[in-house]
Parts: sequence; structure tokens; C-alpha cells
Amino acid sequence: MTQTENGYTIGGLDPLELCDKYELPLFVYDSAKITSQYNALKDAFSIENLKINFACKALTNISILKLMKNLGAGLDAVSIQEVELGLRAGFKPEDILFTANSVSIQEIEKAIDYNVKINIDNIEFLEYLGHKYTNLPLCIRINPHVMAGGNRNISVGHIDSKFGISIHQMPLVERLVEALKLNIVGIHMHTGSDILDVDVFMYAAEILFNTARKFENLQYIDFGSGFKVRYKDNDYETDIALFGKEMSAQFNEFCAETGKQPTLMFEPGKYLVSESGYFFAKTNQIKQTTSTIFACLDTGFNHIIRPMFYNSYHRIINISNPKGMPKIYTVVGYICETDTFGWNRKINEIHRDDILCFFNAGAYCYTMSSNYNSRYRPAEVLIHEGKDYLITKRETMEDLLRNQVQPEIFNG
Ligand SMILES: *Cc1c(COP(=O)(O)O)cnc(C)c1O
Repeated sequence: MTQTENGYTIGGLDPLELCDKYELPLFVYDSAKITSQYNALKDAFSIENLKINFACKALTNISILKLMKNLGAGLDAVSIQEVELGLRAGFKPEDILFTANSVSIQEIEKAIDYNVKINIDNIEFLEYLGHKYTNLPLCIRINPHVMAGGNRNISVGHIDSKFGISIHQMPLVERLVEALKLNIVGIHMHTGSDILDVDVFMYAAEILFNTARKFENLQYIDFGSGFKVRYKDNDYETDIALFGKEMSAQFNEFCAETGKQPTLMFEPGKYLVSESGYFFAKTNQIKQTTSTIFACLDTGFNHIIRPMFYNSYHRIINISNPKGMPKIYTVVGYICETDTFGWNRKINEIHRDDILCFFNAGAYCYTMSSNYNSRYRPAEVLIHEGKDYLITKRETMEDLLRNQVQPEIFNG
């Protein structure tokens, strides 16, 4: 979003006009930001075989998936449905990695039928697949036990985490590989989200590369993601340029030492789409209580759950009154539960019907939205090369009732 003399623009368009055209609440994504993030990540590395897989759980709209495909990205899928969406978006099976955690063996076998890359994080499944299939190419997800990530809920590499095969179990894995002639072509890890410190990444990388040496047929090494983006002005973000430089050096050294040229893969979600997204909502009421001025919005945690779920921060501004005097508000939603988007926010004076804009609404917002309180999910709009495109319609009562069955007996 760019601030102009009289207001704001996104991708050259006036957000107030978009709000008028598509009604509120509304998600808007700027493809230019997705592209620049993709290129920034790609350009940070000097590595011959580099592949960036979009972790699509962050934003699964099929037009976004197609955009990613056109940029040259692959796909990181965590459910068979995400695999199927990826195939529908036109990704080749070999460009999809299915990272299966806690899913059934049937789901994994379905992905095998689709010929996508399979990432296994359970020793029992390795054994099962090794017995059942000959020479099936497999990736294994290791847990390096690096404590990383913004908070415990989004840190998945620690010792109590359900993710991955423990690094301490590698001797057992090696024994199985040998005995069952497992074809391990990939090695993977993903230690959490919102990791700031490049040193943490490099420490994890060392573990990953050391593990990679144990496998003869390795075609790719997947470092996962966890890159932190900015949530506010002057916020820290992962220094991608520095990370790219250090990672490239370490990876190229690995290649030189082992005489191998595997592909180095990353699978960012947040880094690619978080900052591309904006969420707009109307103010229903201003409500002053004894201690607080609440701005009550025509939306709630049914649309953006991250503040209540992870205590995450979304910058909120008033685009209807860009020159108003800043005041302190607590911004809340209409859900009949505690539903707070932000405490004590300094926002240009808000009046009833003013439109507020949330930043960082591209990742884990629409995909985590629900119909709680029987509210409709909003529309999604993509701005691309100066034009706006509707990519998801706002829901209607028909959508709420679509799968409900009404047996006659209750009719009277
Ligand atoms: C969620 C997830 C990602 C993406 O994490 P971000 O913090 O959004 O970049 C990558 N890999 C796996 C396996 C994931 O589950």
C-alpha cells in the first residue's frame, strides 16, 4: 500500500473504490508484492539448482496458486486436498511435495498414486512403504530439535513436537534404509514460523547437511521455511540477503565436498504472501466504556483469527480518515466471545462507517476463516497489472445451508 497526498493506493488502485465495488469485508491481494517477494528470495541465493515451493496452506486460492506456478514456484502441500488443488491449478506432480504429518496411510498412498513427491515423518510409515513398494522415491522429514519460531505454537522443531523423525533416530533410519533398500531422494526439515535469527537457520542447516551425507541417492534437500516478515514499521524481518549468502556458501561447499548437485528447496508461505494481503472492514460502532474506546468492526475472528489464536499483530489503519487526529482505540470484532484484533492502537480518528485496513492479511487469514456465528466468508480480490479481479465470491445463505440436510420429520 502506498500513501498518497489524499489517501492510499494498492497496485495503483484506490482501495476505497475497491471496497465500494466489492463490498465489505474484503480481502485484497497485490500480485506485484508476491512477485517481488518471490524474486527477492530467489535472488538471495547463488545456487544452481534452487526451487521455491509455495506452502499453500497460507493462501490456497486457485488463482494465487496459478500465479505461483507462473512465477516458477513448486508447491508444498500438507493435505491430499491441497495436493488436488495444486494439480487442478496445473502444477506438475513432480513439482508438488506432500508433507504429511499425522495423516492416514491411505491418504499418503493416494498421493503416491498422483505421483507427487512424498515427505514422510514417521518411522512406521517408512517401514510400511518400504515393504509394500520397491524403489519408491521418498523424502524424510527430520526434526533437528532446534528451538525456533515466534512462539511455542508455531515452533515445530522442539523436542516435544509431533513433527518429523528425531535427529537422534537417524541410526535407526539408516538401518531401515539399508535393510529395506529404501530410495531416499529427499531430506526435509521445517522448524517453525517467524524465525528471525540467521544463526538459528545456519545451525539447523548444518544439521540438515550432515544428515544429507548419509543418503546416497539424494536429489533434493528441503530446508522448509520460517522466514519472518514485518508486521509493523521498523519491525525486524529475516535478513534474506544475509541468509542467502551464508546458505549458498554452505550448500555449495556441501556440493563440492560430496560431489553431488542436489536441488536446494525452500517452502515459504508467509514470506511470499503475508505482506501482499490487505483486509478491509467497516466500523459498526464506536463504543466508549469506563476505561476504553472500542472500535467495533463488521468482522471478527471468523475472518482473521490470528490475533486471538497466536497473539499476532496486524497493523490497522483508518483509510476513510487519513488526516484525522490519532486517538487510542481497542479494535474488536462482532463475534459473541472475546474477539480483539488489537489493544491500545493509535489510529486516525474513527467514526461509524469508516473503513479500517488490516495489514499482513495475505497469509493464514482467509484460509483460517470460518462461518462461526453464521457469518459469511468475505470476497477475495487480486490486483494484477493495474486491474482488479474477483477470485472468490462473498458467501450467501445458500453456502451456509449447502450441506445441511433437512429430514421431513422435523417439518411439523
Ligand atoms: C506451514 C508450513 C510452511 C510455511 O511456513 P511459513 O512460516 O508460512 O513460511 C512450510 N513448510 C511446512 C511443512 C509447513 O507446515
